[in-house]
Amino acid sequence: MSDTTAAAPNKPPTKLVIRNIGLLLSGDLDHSILDADTVVAVDGVIHAVGKEKDIDTTAATTTIDAKGTALAPGLIDSHVHPVCGDWTPRQNQLGWIDSCLHGGVTTMVSAGEVHTPGRPKDIVGLKAMAIFAQRAFQAFRPGGVKVYAGAPVLEQGMVEDDFTELAAAGVKFLGEVGLGSVKDGVTGRRMVAWARKYGIQSTIHTGGPSIPGSSLIDKDMVLETDADVVGHINGGHTALPDDQIVALCERSPRALEIVHNGNERAGLLALRTAKDLKQLHRVILGTDSPAGSGVQPLGILRMISMLSSLGEIPAEVAICLGTGNTAKMRSLNCGLIAPGREATFVFLDTAQQSAGKNLLDSIQKGDLPGIGMVITDGAVSIQRSRNTPPATRVPEVVRT
Ligand SMILES: [Zn+2]
Repeated sequence: MSDTTAAAPNKPPTKLVIRNIGLLLSGDLDHSILDADTVVAVDGVIHAVGKEKDIDTTAATTTIDAKGTALAPGLIDSHVHPVCGDWTPRQNQLGWIDSCLHGGVTTMVSAGEVHTPGRPKDIVGLKAMAIFAQRAFQAFRPGGVKVYAGAPVLEQGMVEDDFTELAAAGVKFLGEVGLGSVKDGVTGRRMVAWARKYGIQSTIHTGGPSIPGSSLIDKDMVLETDADVVGHINGGHTALPDDQIVALCERSPRALEIVHNGNERAGLLALRTAKDLKQLHRVILGTDSPAGSGVQPLGILRMISMLSSLGEIPAEVAICLGTGNTAKMRSLNCGLIAPGREATFVFLDTAQQSAGKNLLDSIQKGDLPGIGMVITDGAVSIQRSRNTPPATRVPEVVRT
């Protein structure tokens, strides 16, 4: 095994050992359950995954007894609309990101800081805002949550040099195409291609207008623009007609994002269509919050449970949609329990009094799991969640 240790100068490495894992949910759709009971991470990066007897667990700086609970990668919300700090003007709520951490979300991808009061729409202004948001959230991690923000919305008049400049400044994602003044496929496609050329990923708003002032984006514009992610294929909130959703699954090769704040029936249609096409690896999950529907600290967990129970996919597969699938589609180094990946985890167990026989069965029956601990970059962020129903068993820090 290659050594993934990268200790800072003059600082002894930190070694996290998680033992007694009852169920290891890898986040990888091809091998969603691993035959392993132990994970070791060094300096916030996963170093080894396997059976305790085969792994060097000595010299740990932190040891966690998982007490037989399940370990999964931290959940990823592929579609959020942050503004600044841990505040959203959409519902004038403080602490929403920290609250999502208590729903197991450890990574968020901005689909545009579009709720910013007085959001600049001129090109210098939108670039400045994107770079500010990217910098601010890189330095500010509420509870340890990593927010990939700084997602400019396309406006008429942008030229190739604007994308070069944004990429050089560290911008990695575009905000939803269609939320600015670019509302035609020809212009959208040209700008998305410039973004892609410089390593900036794109998402398109799909469906009816989300709030007064936004507009319909139909399947023809989605296909013509060819953004990397078909954003909220189930609408945010208003979905396209069923035949258009099926056409997008069939004809676009891009990621299919299902969101909490969309049409649930349309979300199930997209899931079933992707499953029939043997394209489940393209399905990723987001909340599209904060929004008119509020913020959903348990939104990704609720999607996993809804899609598993009503979409009839195994719970361990549904968990991959909100972890490894999103990480792969969005080129993030989290979302999988594998050597070299970020040591960011959520511990799950059956909620107390669930009718499910075990964790996976309880999710397949439509219940939410309980969260007993969340770890980000190798450090304990929270212990028992204040937001999920209580987990039956919770892990314990046995040595720090
Ligand atoms: Zn949208």
